[in-house]
Amino acid sequence: MYYHMYKDNIWRPKIFINKGVSLIKTELFIDGQYIPSETRRTFDVINPVNAQPMGQAAKASTADVEHALEAAQTAFKKWSRTNGDERAARLKTAAAAIRDHEQELAHILTAEHGKPLNDALKEIQGTASAFEYYGEEARRISGEIAPAKSATSRSLVIRQPIGVVAAIVPWNYPVSLMSWKVAPALAAGCTVVVKPPELAPLATTKTIEVLSSAGLPTGAVNVVTGKASEIGDFLVSHPITRVVALTGSTEIGAHIMRVASDGIKKLILELGGHTPMVVFKDANLERALKDGVKRSFRNMGQICNAVNRIYVEQDIAEVFIDRFVKMTEQMTIGDGLANPSIDLGPMIDQSGIVRTQRHVDDALQKGARLATGGGKPDAPELQAGYFYKPTVLTEVRQDMLVMHEETFGPLVGIATFKGVEEAIALANSTDFGLVTYGYTESLSTAFAFGEGVESGTVAINTVSPDSLYAPYPAWKLSGTGLELSRHGMNEYMNVKHLLLEIG
Ligand code: NAD
Repeated sequence: MYYHMYKDNIWRPKIFINKGVSLIKTELFIDGQYIPSETRRTFDVINPVNAQPMGQAAKASTADVEHALEAAQTAFKKWSRTNGDERAARLKTAAAAIRDHEQELAHILTAEHGKPLNDALKEIQGTASAFEYYGEEARRISGEIAPAKSATSRSLVIRQPIGVVAAIVPWNYPVSLMSWKVAPALAAGCTVVVKPPELAPLATTKTIEVLSSAGLPTGAVNVVTGKASEIGDFLVSHPITRVVALTGSTEIGAHIMRVASDGIKKLILELGGHTPMVVFKDANLERALKDGVKRSFRNMGQICNAVNRIYVEQDIAEVFIDRFVKMTEQMTIGDGLANPSIDLGPMIDQSGIVRTQRHVDDALQKGARLATGGGKPDAPELQAGYFYKPTVLTEVRQDMLVMHEETFGPLVGIATFKGVEEAIALANSTDFGLVTYGYTESLSTAFAFGEGVESGTVAINTVSPDSLYAPYPAWKLSGTGLELSRHGMNEYMNVKHLLLEIG
């Protein structure tokens, strides 16, 4: 192991990925300690920059999942009875520990996922912020006194933690999306079994080790890595699991809904999207261009709120498209560990490239124009990894896959429109309803569009749609239940009517 001095003057292990120096290995994290899977099975984690193994995770069996659920159930008995001050103190200590280890965690995340190191660092810092924020919220849980139904009765409406949570996380933002579940669940008094994504399980597991070592009770947060096909349904349907919080595809969300139905589990499902960006003719063009390029391709378009389709008002379409394409061609792409501030790394795996190419081919066959991109970059050092050029299609129609099916890749289609009514109709033309972006300098257009669009978030003149302080709702096929803000914490609590007859 080599050591490296980071900016805070602390020597920490430096991780040399794929240089034959060290593979990053994690085991299951159950009841406050690492243990191997009872079958001793493991699986490789691949670095998408070069398609070589960079680490190994334990492959849990259903017996391991049961073990983790039992640990969480035991921990729940005490944790659910702690007061808000204690939970606040522990969550804030956990957040500080994550910040202390942000460099190592970000390195691991970049190595297993491919996102540039600076982006990974932001994700880890955002994770720490979520634990800090929910540390504050833990102190503010309250109920209400309802009107008494008679002179001799009193009605209290109180909230109590539901129980053990299964937190199921996707690979695109594995660490921060873990925190959007674990932090509010702990704040509410629940305990958790986390199932990280198979493609990028290591940074999430390590983050949980770090925050648990910082003072969470043993068993409060447990991790079972492994294959969803072997342990997923077992985890969801197990009687100990009372809440299932999933971020993932609509297909898996629907499956989990079915598996959870017999046990009437509480579900929080943040699922797929197909995000429109609408640029009105009075928009601040510079801002719309900069934001549109960033949000179409950041994280290689592997974001639920990535811009999938742009509608630009006819009057400004020519100049917008011309500049958008030029700005796309200036994006830098490569190894985000070697070049932390590079714009784009690789996609997560070959299946992402195949899906993106399928959307490009479908559009071209139906008459679209390839304005830029469409295929692997030429640089020799990018041939082994899962790289794909940021791609823009114009002259697109709604019946093309790119305009209504989630690509989850570096691809955007640009079409034109005229007037607010048509903009709203186009934005609403898919079955998804997660996020919509609108660019206009007119207050009346902003309100007409913002209120007319069927989506959980409408962001005007910005492409940073989430905030710790407001919910991140999902409409239509994009999900059900809430994450973020105090609403996201309330999801982990049952409401109880405590009725007293005092006459
Ligand atoms: P996925 O649906 O394939 O997997 C999500 C998680 O579910 C993974 O951990 C996977 O192992 C697990 N899983 C799969 N089958 C399961 C089963 N039967 N039981 C239990 N768990 C099971 O999604 P992905 O490819 O990891 O992520 C991409 C998807 O996530 C995209 O559709 C994207 O839009 C969505 N997403 C949504 C949001 C949001 O906030 N709405 C945020 C990020 C990603």
